[in-house]
Amino acid sequence: MESFLKCKKCKKDFYETDVELHHIIPKGIGGEDLDGRIYLCKKHHGILQNLIWKWIWESIPENLKNPIKDKIKEKTEGYLNDYGTTEKE
Ligand SMILES: [Zn+2]
Repeated sequence: MESFLKCKKCKKDFYETDVELHHIIPKGIGGEDLDGRIYLCKKHHGILQNLIWKWIWESIPENLKNPIKDKIKEKTEGYLNDYGTTEKE
């Protein structure tokens, strides 16, 4: 039997494979399971992740933004040119 999970945002039921586990505080910035986890459909997970990026970016002092942009450009180029690590996140 298929199992369904409810998206915490739109409250619709989705197949298990169409929902994603969202960490309230993203693991990438030190969040833990204890901070809370919710299920979201792929659409709402994507939207919330973009919003979180926006909230983080808004919190960064202006004088640090250009150095961060430069670092992202450099790291992205490094990632795209390094075939050995393309499967890693
Ligand atoms: Zn949803």
